Amino acid sequence: MKKYRVGILGATGTVGQRFCRLLEDHPQFEITALAASDRSAGKPYEEACAWKLPGRIPAAVRYIVVQPIEPPLDCDIVFSSLPSSVARETEEAFARASYPVISNSSSYRMDEDVPLLIPEINGDHVGLIEKQKENRGFTKGFIVTNPNCAVMSFAPPLAALHGRFGVEEVAVTTLQAISGAGYPGVASLDITDNVFPYIAGEEPKVEIEAQKILGRLGSNGIEKADFTVSAQCFRVNVVDGHTASVRVNLRETATLEEVVEAMRTFPSLDLHSSPARFIDVTNEPSRPQPKLDRDSGQGMTVTVGRVFPDTVFDYKFVALSHNTVRGAAGGAVLNAELLISKGLI
Ligand code: NAP
Repeated sequence: MKKYRVGILGATGTVGQRFCRLLEDHPQFEITALAASDRSAGKPYEEACAWKLPGRIPAAVRYIVVQPIEPPLDCDIVFSSLPSSVARETEEAFARASYPVISNSSSYRMDEDVPLLIPEINGDHVGLIEKQKENRGFTKGFIVTNPNCAVMSFAPPLAALHGRFGVEEVAVTTLQAISGAGYPGVASLDITDNVFPYIAGEEPKVEIEAQKILGRLGSNGIEKADFTVSAQCFRVNVVDGHTASVRVNLRETATLEEVVEAMRTFPSLDLHSSPARFIDVTNEPSRPQPKLDRDSGQGMTVTVGRVFPDTVFDYKFVALSHNTVRGAAGGAVLNAELLISKGLI
């Protein structure tokens, strides 16, 4: 199998480290370039990076010298895990220099000609890429994005319900892990013994991204799904795994069994990083829990539980996904596998 050479922007960060771990034994990708800020550039990765994942730094990246975040990099594909403050300009520069850019940042997610991908839900949205190249004068390069890590926990069950019964209104409360803030992230005195009721800029993202993801690709771009989302986002004292408490009104009447069946049977794909189950619905009353369920399907499965009729809305449920795997690096790797399978890389 052909191996594509991969560069990682923001390689020393929380998501960058996940990329290094996930790509360690990947059959389609090998890491050939790492880039980060001026603080890290010029140093071997092991020296620049405060490695925080279990196990040692993968041998293949340990001695790669970190470069500045500018083209050219010695690679065929760029994964970006840069802060949004620098991502917009940098990702465009790489796309213009003919690199496919697969981004975790929020910078381009809502641009009309940029796919916001969850491959199991809207892989056909890669159809936007041609238009994007035309609009922006890119020749070979382009940008695709994956969703906000909290949206990743509840968009899949919503997609299952929207396809069968139509989603009308959603109220979601997210309980987001500390690693979602990057490293060093939230001050320990703010999060220990505490629930922090504010994540800067998060609620607007959580209120708008699912409608694009669940939208239909038409001749004029994405027709967004017609439902409203009200969100409250909390930081909680959990290391990894974002939980979403969701209440939903449906357009058509559905029984509890039909709701559960719609989620449980929503298909996974046959890509290298696809989990056996995309959505795992559990009947156990005390699940999902971040500690017990975030690693399901190597961190690529979304776990749903506590699905019940609601007294105000039609149904309520709890959804959980691993924020740095399915909600970031793993989601981006799956996007790259999708693009290769469709002949776009
Ligand atoms: P992080 O731990 O703070 O890492 C940030 C990375 O970007 C580091 O490699 C850092 O390099 C580099 N960087 C920072 N400022 C830079 C600059 N001015 N120029 C060049 N490089 C710079 O953050 P993270 O959690 O990995 O998040 C990265 C991106 O992914 C963000 O856009 C975030 O919103 C998104 N995301 C994160 C998660 C998550 O769960 N953490 C999930 C989904 C999406 P140095 O080490 O050299 O400073």
